[in-house]
Amino acid sequence: MSGRFAPTPSGRMHLGNAYAMLAAWLSARARGEEMRLRIEDIDVPRVMPGADAWIRDDLAWLGLDWSGDVVYQSRRTALYDEVFATLCDAGLLYPCFCSRAEIRAASAPQEGDRFIVYPGTCRRLHDEHPDEAAARVRAGERHAWRLAAPHAGAREGRILFDDRVYGAQDYDLGSALGDVVLRRSDGLYAYQFVVTLDDLLMGVDDIVRGRDLLRSTALQIWLRQRLLDCGIGGGSDGSGGDVRWTPAQTPDYAHLPLLDNAAGVRLAKRVRSLDLGHLREQGVRPQAVVGYCAWALGLVERPRAMDAPEALACFDWRRARAVCGRDLKVPDDIGARLLAM
Ligand code: GLU
Repeated sequence: MSGRFAPTPSGRMHLGNAYAMLAAWLSARARGEEMRLRIEDIDVPRVMPGADAWIRDDLAWLGLDWSGDVVYQSRRTALYDEVFATLCDAGLLYPCFCSRAEIRAASAPQEGDRFIVYPGTCRRLHDEHPDEAAARVRAGERHAWRLAAPHAGAREGRILFDDRVYGAQDYDLGSALGDVVLRRSDGLYAYQFVVTLDDLLMGVDDIVRGRDLLRSTALQIWLRQRLLDCGIGGGSDGSGGDVRWTPAQTPDYAHLPLLDNAAGVRLAKRVRSLDLGHLREQGVRPQAVVGYCAWALGLVERPRAMDAPEALACFDWRRARAVCGRDLKVPDDIGARLLAM
């Protein structure tokens, strides 16, 4: 059983990524578990060549170690193909021919995080005219593949889980997420599919990440169960090693408040001033970054330099829970503050 770092190599890690990585490492280590490193480079257009080497280097610099081989999603396509075919055979997927504009036009406006619930156009086509849908696929019409999730309000689509930071969660899959895409029309596998499968196959039972993925967790819990129902994930940890974990067990989840800049905008990799490359060039020490992130996690009263083992000594999810509800604003002069730490 393990925790995991699951970065997307789309640029240099910034302070917000370091904070999420530290939290994931502390959580797994506090449970006496190992960390795995999985490079989520499946979304090829977003990948920046060389960013995976930065990630490995920055994690090592922060003193956050991992075990085993680094898993690259881009090298697992044959495995994804096989599992995808199994899900297809189980009747869990259907082809979707809608364009983005069509989906947007047919959708009820969503609040908050711009998540658009698919209005079900091609699900109806698939249910009512399966031959027509199959013929359009055979004819080579551009299509994505969607997961046929429980309908809104269906009993089997109610997902309850306890988040270690945000507490009890209660989602109705059909209305909160709907039929998400598992394979895009450009042929690439989608985040929700590969992340759920890889967490299952890698024996990950401790998942720590930003609160923007809280809602996705409901879907991943459901999809994980469907994978298990299809006999996937029961016999191997994906690396040929022994199986010492109970795959049916749902992982423990913790979602973190996000780090914003001083203007209240979420930190982004394209803004260089808070990326680790820039901070390191300025002479900032890893202990300053770890100490600042430990403070952001609620582990200490005031930011002060410390290394990762020292942060581990004060780690407790109850402390992180006490600071949830405040997304943290990183001040503009953070570079200078970290340098002085
Ligand atoms: N690769 C995703 C990201 O960098 C994180 C996925 C996850 O933690 O589930 O945002």
